[in-house]
Amino acid sequence: MSESIFVDGGGLVRISAEEISQRVAELGAEIRRDYAGKDLHLICVLNGAFIFMADLVRAIDLPLTMDFLAVSSYGEGTSSSGEVRLVKDLTHSLNGRHVLLVEDIVDTGLTMRYLLNYLEGHGPESVKVVSLLSKPSRRQVEVPVHYLGFEIEDAYIYGYGLDVAHRYRNLPFITSQKT
Ligand code: 5GP
Repeated sequence: MSESIFVDGGGLVRISAEEISQRVAELGAEIRRDYAGKDLHLICVLNGAFIFMADLVRAIDLPLTMDFLAVSSYGEGTSSSGEVRLVKDLTHSLNGRHVLLVEDIVDTGLTMRYLLNYLEGHGPESVKVVSLLSKPSRRQVEVPVHYLGFEIEDAYIYGYGLDVAHRYRNLPFITSQKT
């Protein structure tokens, strides 16, 4: 028997492909307005933000550049270990550039704090953050999120780039595990 994974299992949090695409278009338009005429450089935090990044860059009508870095903090688990490791470094210099960090979700804020410290040390002109999702009730450290897709409640979510033990990143929508 083959069962499609593209059917929403009905978790607490559900954001449809249509809702995501509309919000990404709005974020893209806002970012375009704010960065017109500037040297905009987007940095995607792998792995979770790869689909958001791919859609977002196509919604920003500017001659931007981009780079990718990867961090690891969760391993196979579904709660933060609190320990952030850089597992893939940047390729391009940030010197004098307006950097926009593209994240999938800000949970405790520990990953974002680590990344902002890291980027600030590389001489950018400015650094701002765009995150598709945020779980404010889980925050352990205050971090700025300048552009936010959706604020969600405390649930472990997956789909649209986000995984459960490396699976389900290819779901076109976002849902959460039943608790
Ligand atoms: P933080 O350091 O803010 O606690 O966690 C940031 C990272 O943890 C995110 O970039 C994401 O990779 C992962 N993460 C946090 N919450 C969730 C969640 O609900 N689902 C998934 N799949 N990953 C999450």
